[in-house]
Amino acid sequence: MGVRRIDWELCDGCEVCVDYCPMDVLRMDRETNKVYIKYLRDCQGCFLCERECPQDAIYCFPVRERRIPLAW
Ligand code: SF4
Ligand code: SF4
Repeated sequence: MGVRRIDWELCDGCEVCVDYCPMDVLRMDRETNKVYIKYLRDCQGCFLCERECPQDAIYCFPVRERRIPLAW
């Protein structure tokens, strides 16, 4: 559940999503001037980034999922 994908074709690097994210999940790549998902595990699925992105570049996934860590 939570942020799943950022479409770099649409993202213009405005950083609105970075400012809105309450969990500090997103970061700006200064070389490409695009946003990427840095701390996915901290995402709370609040949908603020998707809702506030002026370019509709962020997609969140609404269904809760179990992530099973591998032992090796
Ligand atoms: S709000 Fe949208 S357009 Fe702006 S940096 Fe984030 S993903 Fe890119
Ligand atoms: S869904 Fe919420 S917590 Fe997750 S990246 Fe977007 S704004 Fe941050």
